[in-house]
Amino acid sequence: MNQRNVRNFCIIAHIDHGKSTLADRFIQRSKIVEERDFRDQLLDSMDIERERGITIKSQAVTLPVEFEDGLYLLNLVDTPGHVDFSYEVSRAISSCEGAVLLIDAAQGVEAQTLSNLYLAFDHDLHIIPVINKIDLPAADIDNCLHQINHDLGLDPDEAVLVSGKTGQGVEDLLRAIVEHIPAPAGEPEKPLQALVFDSHYDPYRGVIVHLRVFDGTLKPGDTIEMWSSGLQYEVEEIGRFKIALEKTGQLSAGDVGYLIAGIKTIRDVRVGDTVTRPDARCKTALPGFREVKPVVFSSIYPVDTNEYQGLVQAMDKLRLNDASLVFEKDNSAALGFGFRCGFLGMLHLEVIQERLEREFDLNLVLTAPSVEYEIELNDGTRLLVDSPMDYPDPGTIKLAMEPFIRASIITPDTYLGPMLSLCNDRRGIQKDMIYLDTSRVELVFEMPLAEVLFDFYDNLKSLSRGYASFDYELIDRRPVQLARLDILVNGKPVDALSMLVYRGNAERRARAACKQLRQEIPRHQFKVPIQGAIGGTVIARETIPALRKDVTAKCYGGDISRKRKLLEKQKEGKKRMKTVGNVELPQSAFLSVLKGS
Ligand code: GDP
Ligand code: MG
Repeated sequence: MNQRNVRNFCIIAHIDHGKSTLADRFIQRSKIVEERDFRDQLLDSMDIERERGITIKSQAVTLPVEFEDGLYLLNLVDTPGHVDFSYEVSRAISSCEGAVLLIDAAQGVEAQTLSNLYLAFDHDLHIIPVINKIDLPAADIDNCLHQINHDLGLDPDEAVLVSGKTGQGVEDLLRAIVEHIPAPAGEPEKPLQALVFDSHYDPYRGVIVHLRVFDGTLKPGDTIEMWSSGLQYEVEEIGRFKIALEKTGQLSAGDVGYLIAGIKTIRDVRVGDTVTRPDARCKTALPGFREVKPVVFSSIYPVDTNEYQGLVQAMDKLRLNDASLVFEKDNSAALGFGFRCGFLGMLHLEVIQERLEREFDLNLVLTAPSVEYEIELNDGTRLLVDSPMDYPDPGTIKLAMEPFIRASIITPDTYLGPMLSLCNDRRGIQKDMIYLDTSRVELVFEMPLAEVLFDFYDNLKSLSRGYASFDYELIDRRPVQLARLDILVNGKPVDALSMLVYRGNAERRARAACKQLRQEIPRHQFKVPIQGAIGGTVIARETIPALRKDVTAKCYGGDISRKRKLLEKQKEGKKRMKTVGNVELPQSAFLSVLKGS
């Protein structure tokens, strides 16, 4: 294929603005999938992605599209919309020359519309503004045109109106992509320089590297070298993404495709890395490579300790396909063996939890998620601590620092009050307040990452009736008054329920945890006190009264089957219980403390 007839582009948008649906229309137009094999959201391959309607991994597809002046290859890179995966968005974007920026006609510009636009600007992409979902009765096209001009600084005359649902305008959009997005530059004769923008693991083929070739040519049999690790491999196969992988003889400057080279683990392939050839190295690496570091930590335990081996196998399998998942063995007095895991954010955590439970049929308990604190001791030692179990003796601590984010919230000004107080309650420091137009405001806050881990997003949505949108980036670490909150059940600390908290939030968190436990822990033959404590000091307390009546007493004598049913039901419930000391804690108790406080 002539380089002049190649276009590399991505679709960027706020979540739910219709990326995946539009990608489906493109796929149908290019006929790479038989109509009878077509199903919705083809690029979203995991069950969870389909169900939740979110894209988690970047995906690429090569669309051959015939126009009057010939055949074009359009390489579409579908990017994950969620902030947890922003590094993947950024790598996917840098493999393109242009971006289709989708705006939901009924919602208008939202927080991730802006953050994705800035990313696209950073990579000098040509941007085509697109107003999507014009079939909706609530579509407000004039308003969107105004926002494109005013908020985004783009030319509203270039905006394309489409409906990914009905297909209206899709042909115009494809034409605009070919006309306005530049063909890739780069020279096939130069030394190989290619960008790894993703990878996945195939049980039969090993690691499949997704790459964009900037310069040079790649053929099977070539020896390649990974810039960051220096590891060398012989290329076995290269090809393009046609939903299924389609082998080709070569990939050259401007192309997007895959390579297979006997790479055993995706840990050896880093997203953002540069691929070159040891016998003819490119002069520089492609810019922007960095290590992806987890920012949220939690321990995962099987509810039933017999399932530990199952968990070990499941974690090993997940790790094959998810290089950003990091974990090590962990051990809790209350919950037994498990894993301490690091995640890119709360969504990443939830996705992993769901996959473990769904794909591997495990019953799990997760501890309260934590950020990573940098702690300086009096003797000058510095520690990174993300688990309450590693928290040093408070007397030895000189200074604790916590990660901070810059949060951007876009809201109709009707909800300005609630948004400001939400952020203020979460220790936010207001940095800016920009009226985007007469009725919409962008708020910029600096705040602790720890404060957005717990129900921040849910609160934001409910306080704004779903209208406010949110995005953030990590900026730095700042000093924090840190404390370890312990939860005692019947006088015994339950290690898995301890958490690291900002001292000023400790009472509130302790009260919430105690209250939730009181609701979740069934009554016992004896009174069960539940306490929240810092060091030796109790700061919150609830008591579960003792069980008075025999539970079967109310099934008067004769009805054996009813009595049996009740006992069976109790047994069933107990399967999912953990015994701590002599108190039985249901899984829901751990979950409620994790979710609610
Ligand atoms: P993504 O999160 O950007 O990938 O968005 P999706 O493609 O998953 O779409 C989000 C929701 O909007 C889904 O319920 C779609 O059915 C719906 N949707 C997408 N495009 C359109 C459209 O053009 N018109 C209408 N009415 N709904 C759409
Ligand atoms: Mg999607």
